Amino acid sequence: MSSSGTVRSYDAVVVGAGIVGLACAWRAAQRGLSVLCVDGATPGGGASGAAAGMLAPVTEADFGEEALLGLNLEAAAAWPAFRDELEEAGGIDIGHRASGALEVAADRDDLEELRRRLAFRRSLDLDAEWLTGRECRRLEPGLSPRISAGIEAPGDGHVNPRAVVAALRRAFERSGGELVTGARATVLVRDECVQGVDIEGRDRVAAPALVAAAGAQTRALPGLDADALPPVRPVKGQILRLRVRPGASLPAARVIRSPRCYVVSRDDGEVVVGATVEERGEDLAVTGGGVFVLLEAARELLPDVDELEWVEAGTGLRPGTPDNAPVIGRHGPEGLVWATGHYRGGVLLAPLTGAAVGDLLAGDEPPAYILPFSPGRFTGGSAHRGGHLATRPRREPDMRVTLNGEPRELPDRASVAEAVSAAGGQPDGRGMAVAVDGEVVPRGRWAAVELGDGQHVEILRAAQGG
Ligand SMILES: Cc1cc2nc3c(=O)[nH]c(=O)nc-3n(C[C@H](O)[C@H](O)[C@H](O)COP(=O)(O)OP(=O)(O)OC[C@H]3O[C@@H](n4cnc5c(N)ncnc54)[C@H](O)[C@@H]3O)c2cc1C
Repeated sequence: MSSSGTVRSYDAVVVGAGIVGLACAWRAAQRGLSVLCVDGATPGGGASGAAAGMLAPVTEADFGEEALLGLNLEAAAAWPAFRDELEEAGGIDIGHRASGALEVAADRDDLEELRRRLAFRRSLDLDAEWLTGRECRRLEPGLSPRISAGIEAPGDGHVNPRAVVAALRRAFERSGGELVTGARATVLVRDECVQGVDIEGRDRVAAPALVAAAGAQTRALPGLDADALPPVRPVKGQILRLRVRPGASLPAARVIRSPRCYVVSRDDGEVVVGATVEERGEDLAVTGGGVFVLLEAARELLPDVDELEWVEAGTGLRPGTPDNAPVIGRHGPEGLVWATGHYRGGVLLAPLTGAAVGDLLAGDEPPAYILPFSPGRFTGGSAHRGGHLATRPRREPDMRVTLNGEPRELPDRASVAEAVSAAGGQPDGRGMAVAVDGEVVPRGRWAAVELGDGQHVEILRAAQGG
């Protein structure tokens, strides 16, 4: 690319070279479009390089997220064909394994949680068989003797996200795409139409179409009106990477999960322990507490974790949305396509998002599966689609609610966040979902939504997020 300040033209510019942006860029280039992908840092330097790479539609399924579960199951089914095509085009083994996953209980609270998750899975017609501790250890001999029960998810698996980024990059470039790294892009809009981008310290690029795949930095994307930006927020995740010593075996064949952590063992000897879920804005610090809780939680499941070699502790910012679902589709100025908000599932969803955005850019009808995830669902002020859980202007004194089936007194004007806290949950809601009178309240609104006398509050603690 020229550095003289001349304008170059492309059919489309993709802002962001994470897994999502690169998948979109590759698919668009395959459709014969001239595509430039720009990243302010390095490809995979955002959440994609931090991710564990679980393809876990079932163990990541959360209360009230049935539409997302449908999309996630479709994405998992798309992975084998996507892997074959990507490995062929990129020439890199991306470490895809249909390993299955095992959710286990290490104490009585976990056991209760596991029972609730069993009921939840069965209510969704998902395979779910209760295993005793002994049956769990028969499947995974490395599990601690204190594991008292488990549920298997045979369809879950994993992939190496760093290898996926490398393969996508190569596949994209081999399809004729161009990549610029280390330079932030500013979107250029005139008369409500995308004109292209200004690339920091380089050329101005003209393009009639732009894919915004900026991940957790979506709301900091320069050049767009604030009301054109979907409500994406950074959700910090700390994650550990360890390695088995030469000659030693992997701690487990499957992904092992408890409510406090997950452990992914790869064939190349890498063992990933994740991940915290923290609402701390842009903070990317690895903390002593984060490392401690993850290691403690992992060795409680698999005592052999003690013998693993330390490799690294990292963090990433997940692009979270109010309903935990991605934002895919056209919205705002003509030519602007959003591919963001993939929260805990961007690795899993990349094949579907890439295909849908490729269709949109090529002028085809988008596949039906993306329609519920359009950016337009957030317009109109409230991200909450249910309507009747609005913030209440005043409260009754001496409020009494039902908290997970038990009658409970809560202070006057108590919010959903206070109910979570009263139920012993983390204030940041790690691994939890809440429904009030059967209607899910997005985590971002827990502090704002006040409870009313006699309401039924259901709190589900989910496995740690990917
Ligand atoms: C600890 C952790 C574990 C996870 N585990 C899993 C998992 O097991 N399975 C799973 O499916 N998902 C997992 N996720 C979620 C997954 O990582 C994300 O959903 C996914 O990586 C999002 O990809 P992305 O391309 O949208 O964002 P990113 O990978 O963050 O990429 C966005 C890119 O945009 C660039 N950018 C931003 N603004 C600009 C600009 N103005 N100009 C140019 N470039 C810009 C950034 O530099 C960045 O490289 C995990 C996430 C974390 C943090």
